[in-house]
Amino acid sequence: MQGLSVRVRGIVQGVGFRPFVYQLAERYQLNGWVRNTNTQVEIEVEGGDQALTDFLQSLRDRAPPLARIDEIVSERRPASGFTSFEIIESQLDAGWQSIPPDTATCDACLDELLDPDERRYRYAFTNCTHCGPRFTIIDSLPYDRDRTTMRCFPMCEDCRREYENPRDRRFHAQPIACPACGPKLWLQMPDAELARGDPIEACASLLEDGSIVAVKGLGGYQLACDATNQEAVARLRARKRRWGKPFALMVPDLEWVERLCEVTAVESEALRSRERPIVLLKQRAGSSLAADVAPGLDTLGLMLPYTPLHHLLLDRFAGPLVMTSGNLSEEPIAIGNREAVERLSDIADAFLFHDRDIYARYDDSVVRVLGDTVVPIRRARSYAPAPIDLPFTAVRDILACGAQQKNTFCLVKESKAVLSQHIGELENLETLLHFESSLETFKRLFRIEPRIIAHDMHPDYLSTRFAHDYPDPSAMRVVVQHHHAHVVSAMAEHGIAEPVIGVAYDGTGYGTDGAVWGGEILVADWKSFKRIGHLRYAPMLGGEAAIRRPYRMAAGYVWSLCAASEAEFEPFIATLPVGERIILRRQLEARLNTPVTSSCGRLFDAAAALLGVCREALYEGQAAVELEALADPQVEDMYPFDLLRDADGWVVDPAATLRALWCDFRAGRPISTVAAAFHNTVAAFTLAVCREARDEHGLNRVVLSGGCFQNALLIRRLLDGLQAAGFEVFTHRLVPPNDGGLSLGQAVVAYALTAEG
Ligand code: ZN
Ligand code: ZN
Ligand code: FE
Repeated sequence: MQGLSVRVRGIVQGVGFRPFVYQLAERYQLNGWVRNTNTQVEIEVEGGDQALTDFLQSLRDRAPPLARIDEIVSERRPASGFTSFEIIESQLDAGWQSIPPDTATCDACLDELLDPDERRYRYAFTNCTHCGPRFTIIDSLPYDRDRTTMRCFPMCEDCRREYENPRDRRFHAQPIACPACGPKLWLQMPDAELARGDPIEACASLLEDGSIVAVKGLGGYQLACDATNQEAVARLRARKRRWGKPFALMVPDLEWVERLCEVTAVESEALRSRERPIVLLKQRAGSSLAADVAPGLDTLGLMLPYTPLHHLLLDRFAGPLVMTSGNLSEEPIAIGNREAVERLSDIADAFLFHDRDIYARYDDSVVRVLGDTVVPIRRARSYAPAPIDLPFTAVRDILACGAQQKNTFCLVKESKAVLSQHIGELENLETLLHFESSLETFKRLFRIEPRIIAHDMHPDYLSTRFAHDYPDPSAMRVVVQHHHAHVVSAMAEHGIAEPVIGVAYDGTGYGTDGAVWGGEILVADWKSFKRIGHLRYAPMLGGEAAIRRPYRMAAGYVWSLCAASEAEFEPFIATLPVGERIILRRQLEARLNTPVTSSCGRLFDAAAALLGVCREALYEGQAAVELEALADPQVEDMYPFDLLRDADGWVVDPAATLRALWCDFRAGRPISTVAAAFHNTVAAFTLAVCREARDEHGLNRVVLSGGCFQNALLIRRLLDGLQAAGFEVFTHRLVPPNDGGLSLGQAVVAYALTAEG
């Protein structure tokens, strides 16, 4: 007989790790105990030499599905004579704790849900240790039923037995519930009466009849309607005041996905993953979907059911449903029942309610396969707040407040970073309150007291103002330039600390010279950066308004960078509203309300507007996504550009590009060819600057970040070009390339600038 002490670190709480250890001990006939602390699982076992070896091996190889093992430390010791194996009481300390995010219904629970002989047959709140709600229902840690919104549902005898049985799949499953003791579902009909009979049945009937139903989901309300009913989809758009921006769909199964979209193996895996995100897929032509689902796009955002409620609803409805966040455009998703009635009554015809409270708001996550990597575009439900490993250990806790758009914040404690779920556009009071309450929750959950506060350089971002006003004046403030943060965010994901060539292409970011940056090539490490290349400045006619009116960007380019060939663009200029044209021209000449920008997103805007693709944008980035949708990936043509040199570095002048694009378009070349050639040109000038940077600075690693890198065609072309030229290229895979990933970079820069020694 020998003894073995084992410590397991990682995501090992709330995942069924202790019963797993219990069952292993039983199998190998070992005695001893297992217990949780908040940072690790501790195990003491005794038995034969081979049994202990096998035990240790199985611990690693057969861990429960939601566990993430970062480290197993074990030590042999003499046996001390245990006579049984027990799960003993948890011991809590002050360290880092993490549990897994909310997880899609597992196969075992799904089987029970659909089996008439099971006591949870058709029970919409079925879950187990391997699946179900987590962070959406937790108000503090350690993870315990009393600290979740399940606290008001006392367990029945049957559930209690399962909960206490280490051989049961529901051993210590905190949200355990059944029809006898758990939450209930009901449907409030359009006449405010309660539906009789089965609420799922009644809900599906309403949807079939073209109604809009607010469905209480996992992280908030979703608005559902029949995706093949044009009238219903149009009504949802009008009531939600959401124009243009595509709606996500939920479909019953993979067969439906394939009917609507082209799906690669990687995409199919992402769809079926336990995170069950919305996956952006290439749409098949000629589907039966309503035209208003994703106007002007060749992609669709699809997801599969991820809660028992969704499974039941989609099983019965048997077709694609629009499933969009329950909110007015740009407001946070609604979570409370009363709140839903207040905020959604003008949108929804009926409400599918239940009485399990949602503690924290989590939107559905969105991913896209770029290159061959699954890249988060919106990181929320089931992804946040899974910790990200950092290549350093911070002595002081850090808060990074993120950007204005697609805001997330980031907290750093020791060697982990947690990013909040997608908070949204910090431009209204509701979103700011969402930011503040989420931050309070995270600080409490992870026991973080930030001593260092990082924020963007933009003085008017609400996140910047929040950092200034943070109630602890002794906490150190660190300002981080937007594109530096983008680049470092991607570096940190890959554990890179040495200087790299960082390409940061996005819509908008405050530059050190006060201009609007966004087409930046930097040489950067964590502490500092040098801007070695950028797009030549172009005027934003009328300031911010130019973002919503891409034709203003086009006019700005024509009148400044392309002024020498202005006459050729006359037919375009003639399309501008006359009054506006005269005012803008005057403003430009007087340099009034006309900031300059090097933004790559704005260059896409200009190109799209010249081609008549998107003259006015109804949502952020619309021009670029529509241009990408039109581009034919087979086309390899490209347009000329000029590489100029100024005091700091390389300046890309796209005047020749826009002129060639315009001439091609006027000559009647297919827009698919012109749009592709434009993409190819952006990749080409980026590659050209990277080559110069390599020669000058001896760097071979290129990091790509910023919202423009949600563009699959641009990424493909740039990866191909850079790799063929021998560069090592790094892209995002854990956090979004858009501003949703910015806070991670801010936190790492702040760490580097404040770390001693
Ligand atoms: Zn389950
Ligand atoms: Zn029960
Ligand atoms: Fe950005």
